[in-house]
Amino acid sequence: LKVSVSDIDIPCAFGPAYEGERVRGADLHSQMGGGKTQCTELVKRAEMSEIEDGKVIVVGKDIPDLSEGDTLDLGIFIQIAGREFQEDFEPIMERQIHHLVNYIQGIMHIGQRDISWVRVGKGAVDKGFTLKDIGVVLHAKYHQEFQKIVDKVQITLYTNKEDVAKLTKQARAEYKTRDERVDKMTDEDVELFYSCSLCQSFAPNHVCTVSPERTGLCGAYNWMDCRAAFEINPTGPNQPIEKGDCLDPVLGQWKGVNEFVEKASRGAVTHYNFYSMVIDPMTTCGCCECIAAMLPSCNGVMTVNREFAGETPSGMKFTTLAGVMGGGASSPGFVGHSKYNITQRKFIKGDGGLLRMVWMPKMLKEEIKDRIDKYGEENGYPDFYNMIADETVGTTEEEILPFLEEKGHPAMSMDPLIG
Ligand code: SF4
Ligand code: ZN
Repeated sequence: LKVSVSDIDIPCAFGPAYEGERVRGADLHSQMGGGKTQCTELVKRAEMSEIEDGKVIVVGKDIPDLSEGDTLDLGIFIQIAGREFQEDFEPIMERQIHHLVNYIQGIMHIGQRDISWVRVGKGAVDKGFTLKDIGVVLHAKYHQEFQKIVDKVQITLYTNKEDVAKLTKQARAEYKTRDERVDKMTDEDVELFYSCSLCQSFAPNHVCTVSPERTGLCGAYNWMDCRAAFEINPTGPNQPIEKGDCLDPVLGQWKGVNEFVEKASRGAVTHYNFYSMVIDPMTTCGCCECIAAMLPSCNGVMTVNREFAGETPSGMKFTTLAGVMGGGASSPGFVGHSKYNITQRKFIKGDGGLLRMVWMPKMLKEEIKDRIDKYGEENGYPDFYNMIADETVGTTEEEILPFLEEKGHPAMSMDPLIG
């Protein structure tokens, strides 16, 4: 028996019309995540007998317990059961949280995975919004939009620090498993790439093309996920793209992709390169986990992750870079990308690859250390990790250049970045 949920029982207005709406400083009541507290999302498959459909549990404080200006940890844990529901569908369901929570009037959702950010507006609180409503919305919309695969949905919202930390630990292990599912695949292996246009409501001309060696810039969708999303919803935002003739194997450009992107961006973007940030890079939307920027005086590039709030050698913080870049344009010299993509074999290969990387925030470097080490070893620089500068070395090109020279960083002896 399929449950049909037509009305969504929450005190706020709800719908796509509110998706692009911002909750600005003066309207802000409280917030979860966004670098101030932890905010994590996880969808897991459950057995039919394990969960109760429609059950939404809030463990810990909720909005009525907060005062204006408060912050709170938040863990959104969604369990889905269904005869047709596969583990492969978990990332797809999880990525829906972004637009579905944004559909609630007065609530803003940014990011994904363990770097999510929920901003609750005063107007929504006046109407009676509580965190439980997030669960009510997700339950209803999952049934509505994914009828074929969803039988039962149970949602738990954790707000105690310890509970959120525990969920975050579990979630990170799941993200790792998902990421590694494309590890052995190459772009040459497949004839089909997948588009993702989920973010067009925020960045109207933006189209991600997801290949095995270039995961979506939000980090939440890889090639496998897009393929599964297409299977679930053949007319949805993830479409197969016949890559067609390769126009440039070094920069990573294909005829079929260009044609698709031109149509999907309504003519705004006619072509882009998968493996370059210098020459016609892929478009960027505001969801990116990291933004890379050229550092011409160091003959290299840097990248910064969303959680790093400090200055960078590009002269801009993450938020400034995202503001300039996140509208869906292709901006030579900059590109948004996922954390996982940094150590994928083709990352900015056309610009010299990861060996061009001269600066990263320490926290990001540490997070992906194992994979940087592996890359360094495979590419003739086993000590590469220690050659990448971070904020403890400096936050300007001038400050980090002597360090790079002293370490014999590979970018020092590469061809000029700009030809
Ligand atoms: Fe899809 Fe790209 Fe948006 Fe991720 S950032 S949801 S891959 S369009
Ligand atoms: Zn986006």
